[in-house]
Amino acid sequence: MAIFPLRTFGDPVLRTVTTPVSEIDASVEKLVNDLTETMYDAPGVGLAANQIGVARAVAVFDAQDGEGARALINPEIVETDGEWVYEEGCLSVPGHFWSISRPAFVRVTSLDLNGAQVEYTGDGLLGRVLLHEIGHLKGELLIDQLEKSVRKTALRELRLEALGLVEYE
Ligand code: ZN
Repeated sequence: MAIFPLRTFGDPVLRTVTTPVSEIDASVEKLVNDLTETMYDAPGVGLAANQIGVARAVAVFDAQDGEGARALINPEIVETDGEWVYEEGCLSVPGHFWSISRPAFVRVTSLDLNGAQVEYTGDGLLGRVLLHEIGHLKGELLIDQLEKSVRKTALRELRLEALGLVEYE
């Protein structure tokens, strides 16, 4: 297992739509282990492969529900319901939190490391983490969920930060 450096806002890999895994082989198992170790080291509650520079549809999460770390491989959102505003952050956008509205409940299908189809359903942190990580695998970031005016301000701030620029006026 290895801890990888995290890719942050401005890195094009975060906007890359990841490729589904065609076969669960040793490389997928290693990727899941490395993602898990990197997630706990950060520490975070979820991590997608493109956040460590790997454009494959693999993520891990630990919704702090006693189930430990679990893998998402080629996950698909099959049902959502309701709406919930939650103060959300992202390891790739460190130091920032926004109130973000997303569905409250989600049902997701995924493969596990044996290649079997599994289903995750839930609300609260579990639902939020599933939506957030699956967004990463589609090249999305949490700021995409913000309403237009808030997003504009957030993007301006993040671009300045990514370039190491100082606002001078
Ligand atoms: Zn994130």
